[in-house]
Amino acid sequence: MHGLFAAAEEVVSRFFRDRVDDPGHGTIEIHGERYVLVRAAALSVEFFDLVRSLYGEDRRAEADEFARTILFDLAHAMGRTDARNFHKQMNLTDPIARLSTGPVHFAHASWAFVEILPESRPAPDDSYCLVYDHPYSFESDAWVRNTRHSEVPVCIMNAGYSSGWCEESFGPTLVAAEILCRAKSDETCRFITAPPERIAARIAAYVAENPHVGPRAAHFRIPDFFVRKREEEDLKKRQDNSNASYGRRRNSRHYGASPAASPTTSTTSSAWCWARQHSRSASSTATTRYSRISSRLCAPAKGQRH
Ligand SMILES: [Zn+2]
Repeated sequence: MHGLFAAAEEVVSRFFRDRVDDPGHGTIEIHGERYVLVRAAALSVEFFDLVRSLYGEDRRAEADEFARTILFDLAHAMGRTDARNFHKQMNLTDPIARLSTGPVHFAHASWAFVEILPESRPAPDDSYCLVYDHPYSFESDAWVRNTRHSEVPVCIMNAGYSSGWCEESFGPTLVAAEILCRAKSDETCRFITAPPERIAARIAAYVAENPHVGPRAAHFRIPDFFVRKREEEDLKKRQDNSNASYGRRRNSRHYGASPAASPTTSTTSSAWCWARQHSRSASSTATTRYSRISSRLCAPAKGQRH
């Protein structure tokens, strides 16, 4: 595992070393790509303040929801496109190599340091689950530096960007929710990434297995974009079922046919341990300059087969 992240560090460091600052033309280029520097607080605590001032004090909840939605959707799209561009430029095709560069890229871009926790099960299907900390998230940092406290997690862009990068690396649609956050006085910022239809169950399972986290994780938010998307999909399913049901009733009435039995499908999603497949020699927690990952990540979850 250490070798995996060491290789990722080499690739990402090479990418960021190729930097040209040219104030005379107002440009910063990294590996031939134009970049922009943005002050962290402007994308976090100050953005929330701006939106709240536009909505008015009596609509604060609505304002925060609006800010969260914009920041998450923007960051998720950035995570996906940055990953796609980076993988292409550095000629990375293996999903593990692609995913491994994410935390290191994150660190170089000053978003956060990433520590992947042993409960993680990254897989190219709907069993995907990643649990990780961003102890120095730029968003919570902005709140702490401004001596501001929040009752809910504030690292929305960290959640969006990291889940976007994972999605681009592995394939399944993914969403992240932050369950602990330094801005609400937790010791770290902790995230869980999973497919949208499974994220709530993953969080519930994690909290059940880590009861000391439960009281602190009470105010997590599942990003609205994915909630809306799931609601739209549920609505479409209900409409399809309704149309199918209407069609069967119609056939039955006109032709006396019995409704055909619906085919049932059974899908078994086996957890796929990336560490085991790619680094069987890992025997201890691997720490690199920009990320940490525990080899306990290889341990099968209760009831899961590998
Ligand atoms: Zn946070």
